[in-house]
Order: sequence, then C-alpha cells, then structure tokens
Amino acid sequence: MDGENPQTTPMMAQYLALKARYPDALLFYRMGDFYEMFFDDAKAASAALDIALTKRGKHLGQDISMCGVPHHAAEGYLLTLIRKGFRVAICEQMEDPAEAKKRGYKSVVRRDVVRLVTPGTLTEDTLLNARQSNYLAAWAEVRGEAAFAWVDVSTGEFTVTPCPRIQLGPMLARISPRELLVVDATFDEIVHETGISLMTLARSSFDSTSAEARLAKIFGVKDLAGFGAFDRASLAVMGAVVDYLDLTQRGKLPLLRPPILERQGGTMAIDAATRRNLELTRSLEGKREGSLLAAIDRTVTGAGARLLESRLSSPSTDLAIIQARLESLGYFKSEPTLTQNIRQNLRHVPDIARALSRIALDRGGPRDLAALRDGLQASSQIAARFVGELPKIVHESCDSLLGHAKLTTLLSAALAPDLPQLTRDGGFVATGYDFNLDEARQLRDDARSIVASLQADYAQQSGITTLKIRHNNVLGYFIETPDGHAAKMLAAPLSETFIHRQTTANSVRFTTLELSGLETRILNAGAQALEVEKMIFEQLRQAVLGQSGPITQAAQGLAEIDFATALADLAIDLNWIRPIIEQDSSFYVEGGRHPVVEHALRRTGASFIANDCNLGEKPVWLLTGPNMAGKSTFLRQNALITILAQMGSYVPAIRAQIGIVDQLFSRVGAADDLARGRSTFMVEMVETAAILNQAGPNALVILDEIGRGTATYDGLSIAWATLEHLHDVNKCRTLFATHYHELTGLSSRLSGLHNATMAVREWQNEVIFLHEVRAGAADRSYGVQVAKLAGLPVAVTDRAREILDALEKGEREGVARPAALLDDLPLFTARPIPPTPKSSAAEARLREIHPDELTPKDALALIYELRNLLQVQ
Ligand code: ATP
Repeated sequence: MDGENPQTTPMMAQYLALKARYPDALLFYRMGDFYEMFFDDAKAASAALDIALTKRGKHLGQDISMCGVPHHAAEGYLLTLIRKGFRVAICEQMEDPAEAKKRGYKSVVRRDVVRLVTPGTLTEDTLLNARQSNYLAAWAEVRGEAAFAWVDVSTGEFTVTPCPRIQLGPMLARISPRELLVVDATFDEIVHETGISLMTLARSSFDSTSAEARLAKIFGVKDLAGFGAFDRASLAVMGAVVDYLDLTQRGKLPLLRPPILERQGGTMAIDAATRRNLELTRSLEGKREGSLLAAIDRTVTGAGARLLESRLSSPSTDLAIIQARLESLGYFKSEPTLTQNIRQNLRHVPDIARALSRIALDRGGPRDLAALRDGLQASSQIAARFVGELPKIVHESCDSLLGHAKLTTLLSAALAPDLPQLTRDGGFVATGYDFNLDEARQLRDDARSIVASLQADYAQQSGITTLKIRHNNVLGYFIETPDGHAAKMLAAPLSETFIHRQTTANSVRFTTLELSGLETRILNAGAQALEVEKMIFEQLRQAVLGQSGPITQAAQGLAEIDFATALADLAIDLNWIRPIIEQDSSFYVEGGRHPVVEHALRRTGASFIANDCNLGEKPVWLLTGPNMAGKSTFLRQNALITILAQMGSYVPAIRAQIGIVDQLFSRVGAADDLARGRSTFMVEMVETAAILNQAGPNALVILDEIGRGTATYDGLSIAWATLEHLHDVNKCRTLFATHYHELTGLSSRLSGLHNATMAVREWQNEVIFLHEVRAGAADRSYGVQVAKLAGLPVAVTDRAREILDALEKGEREGVARPAALLDDLPLFTARPIPPTPKSSAAEARLREIHPDELTPKDALALIYELRNLLQVQ
C-alpha cells in the first residue's frame, strides 16, 4: 500500500500514513461519530467483534474492507478487542471539519493517534477488574545482570527487582502481568503458558543511562539513590516501562509512584507449578472459586482486594514486616466492634487510586473528582474512629487519612450534586461556586426565557396564534408559521420585521434581528459557561494533582486497613490464631486445618479433623496411608498455613510456630497431574530436578506421590533417592507423601526422618478414613477397599483381593515376583452378574392399572387385592 500513489484519495493517504506507524495495532480511525477500520484491520475486528464487514470504495483497484463502531459505545468494543489480545491505536479528529473545509475543497480533517490501548496500560473502570491489579512488566538482561519491573498504570504502583532468567517464570507466575516488554521474543513457551501479551521493544528502549536521567526527571530528584541502589538492569527495565508508557499514552505520562526496589529474596519464592498445585489464587480449573484467595477474601474495597491478592501471591520473608502486619491484625481482632464499624465505612469508599490516575492522565471526568471527594471524606471519618495507642501500620495508615480537608472542602463546594460523565458537556460545577460562571449561565437562561416571551409578542403582533419559535441545528432559532399565513407574513408591514429564511412543505420560517441577536447571546453565554467550567475543571485537576502524594498515601492507608480488618474478621469468625514467626527452621503446627477443604466441608455439614505437624526435630516427614485418606490435604494445609502466616495473616490452627520459609516447592505425582495432558512423568521429573537443585536450608518442600507415574521399581527407586537427597543434601523441611511403604524402613538410617501415617479403621472388610495423622507407618495400602468404595464391580475387587493375598503370601515365602503368580494363580472366572430381582406380583398388578379409570369402589377393591398379593408372598 503506497500512500503516495496518485490513485489514492487524500483521506486514504492519511489513513495509510497513520497505519504505517502502528503496524501491530488495529487503527480506530475517527470519522464523525464512528471509529472506522479498514483493510485487514476491518476483517480482524469484524470477526472479533461479530459486526458487519462492509466495503468503502476502492484502493489500487481493490475493494476496501471496512467496519466501524459508534464512538459513544467504543469502550465496550475496546474491552472485547483487548481481551482477545489486540492492541488498538485510537486516532481522533484533531480539528473541526469546518476548519478543514476552509483550507480547501480537497483538504482532509487533521487526525492523529492520541493513545495506544494495550492490555497492560488500561485505566478505565469499564476495562479493568476492580479487584485485580493490571500490570505492565518489563524484563531484560544487561551485562550479566537481569531485572524485572512492573507497573500498574491504573494506580501508579511501580516496583523493580533483580531477576535472573531462571527466576523469570516464577516471577511471571507471581505478578501475572497482562503485558511483558522484552528485547527479543525468545520467551514463547513462558508466554504461551501464561497468556501474557508479549511486546518486543528496540534495545534503545532499554538503555540504562538515558533511563536514569529520565526517571530522575520524572520523580523530580537529582538522582535515584534516594529510592534505592538500582543496578544497570533495573534502570534499563524501568526505562523501558517509561518509554512504552510514553509511546502508548502519546506523551502523557501516568502518575507513577517512586519505584520500590524489592530486594531479591524479599518474598517467598514460589514457582508456577507450586502456585498451581496449591491453588493459591486460582483453582486447578483456572477459576477464582475454589482457590485459597476466594476462601479468605473478605475485603470490601477494590484496593483492599488487590492488596490481598498481591500479598498472598508474594508472602514476605522479612520478620519485621510480617510482625508489623500481624500486630495490626491483632489490634483489629481485639477490637471487633471498631473493626465492624470501619468495614461498614470502607464499603462506601470509591477507588481513589484509580480515579487519581485517570485525572493525572487527563482522562478523568467530574465523577472522578467526586470519587476523590467522597473517598477522602470517608477517610477522615475512618481516622476519627481510632483512639489510643495504635500499632505501627495502623498508626501510619491513620495518619495518611488525615489532612485532606482543604481539598475535600474545595471539591465539595465546586461540584454540582448531579454529575455528568464527561467534562466536555459541562454542567458539573455547582451554582454559587464561580461568579463568572453563574453570570454566563444566567445570561444563557435569561435569553432562553426572553425567547419564550418573544414568541407571545410576535404572535400578538402578527395576529397568528399558531406562530412558534423553534430551534434546529441548521437554522438555529427561527420563527415558524403554517404556510396558510405565508402571504400575510411576506407582505408589509410584517415583512419589515420578519425576514424570510425558508419555506417547507407546510410551513414558512423567518427570523428577526432581535431573535438572531438573542441567539448570539445564548450561544456566547453557553460557550462562555462551558469555557469557564473547563477552566474550573483544570483548576480542580491541578489542586488534586498538587496533593497526589498524600492522596496516594491515603489510598494505600485505606487498602492497608481493609486488608487488616478483613483478615481480622476472618480470624474472629473462623477461630484462627496468630502464628509465631521465627528466624530459624522451626515448624510446629498444632491442630492445623486446610482452609479451603474445611470451608467446603462446612457447607456439607461435615467437620474437618485437625492435625499436628512438627518438622522442628525431624525435618523430613514421610507420610504413608491409603488413597483418599487425606495425605494431600495434610501436605497442602501446612504449605498454606506457612503462606498465610508469612503474608501476615492469622492461621487455621491451635498453635503455629514457623521459622521463615524462603522457598516453597510443591510437586504432585504425575498421576494427579494428568489433567494438564502433558508427558506427565517427564514434567514431574523436570520439576523434581528443579527442587533438588534449588532447595536451600530454609525451603519447605511438599512432595506428593512422586515417582508414581512410572513402573513400580523405577518409581520406588526415584522416590527413595529423592528422599535421601532432600534429607542429606538439601537439608530442608520436607513433607513427603508416598504409597511406597518400603521407604518407611529408611527411618532407621536417616536420623531426620519421621514416619507418619493416616489412621484408618478396618471394619468388616471396609475401610473407614479417620483423617488423623499419627506417628508410624501404614501397614498396608487398602487400595482394594478404596477401589470398592469407588464402585468397582464386586467381581473385580474380589479377584484383586485374591491376587493381593497371593502376592503377599509369595512375598512372605520369598517368591515376590508377580510373574510367578501367572502360573500358580487359578484363572479368573467371571462370575455371572446376578439377575435383577423379578418384580413382585403386587408390582406387576400395580403396573397394569390406569388410575384415572378406577371408580372409588374399584380402588378400594384394588387395595384389598394388593394386600392379599403381598400376604401370598
Ligand atoms: P490420594 O492419594 O488419592 O490423592 P489423599 O490421601 O491425598 O488421596 P486427600 O485428597 O487429601 O486424600 O483427601 C481426600 C478427601 O478426604 C478430601 O477431599 C476431604 O474431603 C477428605 N479429608 C481429607 N483430610 C481431611 C480431614 N483432615 N478432615 C476431614 N476430611 C478430610
């Protein structure tokens, strides 16, 4: 497509030139009230949006495909396109079409792209999930260092951390960015797995030297040292983020908070497989429902929900941070009435961080100003509820909620009670706020009432009672009479006052000097009022931006209070306790429960059996027991309790003492992972290798049925060697569930190994799960009984028992090989399936009858007959 081609219309040339600048995006090309798309963009968008694909003229002899969406409904369409992974360049008309006409017949309206909408740079409430952060991330390696930065444009939160390539997968799993900026696109697998939209930028975007100067300028400091000691890679990724924001927002930079440098190891390292397996924020089916997050989320604000998800995704390893959070939670737990009152207040707090961010990007409207007014007013009410000595976080949060009176008073005085969505329509400034505005509005409104009285005057003057003054967009104000009066109106003396403008099918239209004068006054006054309102909006916007720091802090304070009160509410309700966190490798959980399984059981009326776990003395627990006895639940509950504790929450237990865990690994045997449909044994081994290579002394490792995806002896050998390695080399706290009972013998050789088993009771050849973890080894696996419970045909379970008995006998007698049985064991004789019992005579008789045909007398006789039949049986 050649923009210079003489056959190309001027408009198409303009379109093609703009499109060439955004080859990776769909171009929304504004034409009047529509955004139009052409060529391949039109084909892609019409398919994605399910809207009609049409044609508009020809380009170089080819039909031009076209589709369009009305501009007032564009957000809905944008949302669909962004969700489907598109980027959209919004091209607006930059001048009034009348201006273009003045330049000449062939002139095209000036247009330009004002914004590139991408998944990671959204700010509109309609495009965002209120309870989820929306991150744009960048990763790069620079001279041997690597870093990862992430920003939420909708709130300004900006963080960076060193991140070697091997940590990128876990990092992406933790942050779940919507969009990732990289230098080259060699991340297909990671990106494919996570569904993140990948954007390749030129290396120059990642230039650390220019980034440093630029960031310092943005944050108004001489150098960045005050925010932390950033290495080259950190500067490079932060620079790339800012560069991309500049590109997508077309020079309007969002209000970024100074970057937080997260030290490596500051949060618990949890890789993607562990997160998935533990169902932290999503269940195995990918839904929020059924996850730990869903079970514990009682926050009542979007910002609180975002903070909870972020902390659950990145439990801290910093003792002081954890203690401070527990401290504030403890305070609220001991003040249940205060907690409930505050939660009640919080329910009405709007999302001030997001409103502020829109205002900063000049994308905000009057309702965003109102959100700030209401949010900050509620803040001071919440702060007023606190009395006495407060824990550090509560104290700081409370402080941040105060001192906004000047701004809220200003906004309250300025904003009208009913607010329009958009600034451009005006009508949002309260009467009495600005003298000039009131005057302009008065003029406009007075002029309107003068028009009304003028109509009465003219009707009287002309003697035409049906004379009306009307308004339309073409003529403006005009006088209209039915055409029957045309002759009278066009003749003297009326023609001296009434100037003819138009004759239509059944009416004649006029104007007067007075009316056009009035119209000019109305128009001027209206335009002037709108100008004043826009000016006031800008003043208010500046007043808000001048306070952006304190407002951001208040937003954080509110989120912090929501986080703590929500978890306190949960702890009170479910009887959770404050964990004791230590800087050692202790691990003692007494009466621990699985928060999600317990939650689910409670709904069915069943109760959860609490269990103890002590990895302090013997750090490796080998857990045996039949399937379905509760092994996985026990393993996971201890991991979840650790995560909750280090996030700063109370935990479902009677007592918990936990030495800070810096890495958490959890692997499930291949058979449990079949749903993912991969070469499961291979995956399991790759993941196990990662644990054995990475787990340090402060790790917590959860291995569930490792090795069961392969032949018995291979599996046993792998499980055995893995266990020894964890015990002798990794030396970390480990929970290891297995059905290889042979491994329990290792406890005599490995001093740190403790055998534990799930207690079951056998009763009349049936197995009853007690869900109780006890010291010792399971004597048998009860697989056959469990199979029976699962509904395997009796013939199969009986035969299995026969084989099992023979195998066990062979083992006792030293002929353990199953192959030996092939010769000795009697052949399987299929038992006939018992016939379904014949229906009784009474049933047969009942089937014959037609109730509607029975008289009451017949019915009585039938009852006697049936009774006799039963007695015969
Ligand atoms: P498999 O080896 O087949 O994976 P498992 O031994 O790991 O089985 P779980 O999946 O942990 O067993 O538990 C099976 C079911 O038993 C759970 O879904 C839950 O309903 C119940 N259960 C587990 N632990 C408990 C408990 N402590 N108290 C009450 N019910 C429990």
